Amino acid sequence: MAIESKIVDPYVENYIKSLVPESMGLFHELEHYAERFQVPIIQKEVAQYLKVFLKWVKPKTVLEIGTAIGYSASLFAYEMENGHIDTIELSEGMAEIAAVTFQKLSEMRPDVSVRQWLGDAQEVLPKLENKYDMIFIDAAKGHYQAFLDLCLPRLNTGGVIISDNVLYKGMVATDAYLVKRKITIVKRMRKYLAFISNHPDLETTILPIGDGVAITYKKGGTV
Ligand code: SAH
Ligand code: MG
Repeated sequence: MAIESKIVDPYVENYIKSLVPESMGLFHELEHYAERFQVPIIQKEVAQYLKVFLKWVKPKTVLEIGTAIGYSASLFAYEMENGHIDTIELSEGMAEIAAVTFQKLSEMRPDVSVRQWLGDAQEVLPKLENKYDMIFIDAAKGHYQAFLDLCLPRLNTGGVIISDNVLYKGMVATDAYLVKRKITIVKRMRKYLAFISNHPDLETTILPIGDGVAITYKKGGTV
């Protein structure tokens, strides 16, 4: 199926996607479920990027905002081999499906503990006490700045924040694709990207893969 993200030329996107090997087992199952029920899991070339990223960064503690069916968290656990993941989800229905996913995952990765938190991330984040090597922000796009403000103090110096969907269907980079009902979300996302790109204690790069991914390194300092 040809997909148009409106972020890079479709021929580039589809070619890169075509090079990603087919998933197996649990991952294959979850991809099918996501497609059937329209769950917005990370796109395959983003999953592939994160696999490589996890192999080189080797985080031991991960925080995820937006569990959905547990696909991305499972990918993290699979690559980490051991460590801990905290993952937050607002929807009870999603969290229940993710619980089944994590049950299956625990057979493959018994040395990674996954703790699910149910609720709005803005209410859950202040309760967290762990420090993380990596934080994955993949929930309500209009609230990334609020999520960031709450989770930056929980990120270790030298840790990274990965923000998904930051180019949101091409709308963030150009008004040409902007639809009216998304104006607020898009304006907030532009502000968020400017913030993480210019903060003196952070170093950010934005990748035009999938729906846009920002990688932010915490240098230390005041945040
Ligand atoms: N990370 C997942 C996909 C997440 S989709 C993956 O790639 O496999 C985004 C999820 O964020 C949805 O399940 C949605 O219910 C959840 N969400 C939306 N707003 C939220 C909030 N304020 N707090 C926590 N979760 C939220
Ligand atoms: Mg996403």
